[in-house]
Amino acid sequence: MQESRKREIRIKADSFRENCKIGRYGIIDLFKDCTRCGYKLLRYPLGESTDLGFSLLKDQDVIIFTNSSSRLSREIFTLAHEIGHIILHINANKSFIDDHITLSGKNTDEKEQEANYFAANLLMPDDEIGKFLDLEIENSNQNKLSATDIAKIMSEFNVSFDMALNRLENLGKINASEKLQLDNERNEKRVGNLLRSISGNSRLNIASEEIDIPYEYIDYVIYNYNHRAIPAETLERALAYCHLSREDISDRLVDSCDEENDADLDDMIGGLPD
Ligand SMILES: [Zn+2]
Repeated sequence: MQESRKREIRIKADSFRENCKIGRYGIIDLFKDCTRCGYKLLRYPLGESTDLGFSLLKDQDVIIFTNSSSRLSREIFTLAHEIGHIILHINANKSFIDDHITLSGKNTDEKEQEANYFAANLLMPDDEIGKFLDLEIENSNQNKLSATDIAKIMSEFNVSFDMALNRLENLGKINASEKLQLDNERNEKRVGNLLRSISGNSRLNIASEEIDIPYEYIDYVIYNYNHRAIPAETLERALAYCHLSREDISDRLVDSCDEENDADLDDMIGGLPD
């Protein structure tokens, strides 16, 4: 990637970041920020051995899907990568589907590389990392970073251990041998333990299995049910995805007052002049 293109992507990531709620250094909840931007976000646990995310533009709606069967830190990276596609690449009738290959940087496709670069700059901007190392980690310029320090970075920036290592290496904060050492230390101590030892965000290391379906989809399902386009079982299954039952939306279903409507109709017809 050319430096001028990289700079362009950094500018776009930085300007998206301005819409996000930031803690001391890192984005607090990128899922919420997406919804606030008007993106339609879908999260569903599709299983581990399948696609991790996709983004598409449909009738002016930006739709992003993330698979919540992957560890939360990975899911957040997928989301940041999809936002990258939306901001850098998307136009009408185009969609991107991502898996372990495209998200790990092993795919040489330029758009995939660019989306990864966008995600890295959105989640871990150079200046915020520099500031975090300076202010939060004692003598970080003299001592080598420990796996515990990496866990602190994970927890603040809501990224995976691997992403933190890759980003620190790309920014020249650690070299290849330090990265290898940290990787070994992680394998010995395990990420879950490291996060617990600093009272960090342990949820990052497990799958959220979150189910999040925009309310518009429920509106659509109710509309179809009311127009007898789908059976009651489909309605109930769609509601269950959103942790809702028929009772929760009973005021919006027309079947309970069908008889009344029919009676009204009879009256009307009966009342019409011959
Ligand atoms: Zn992609």
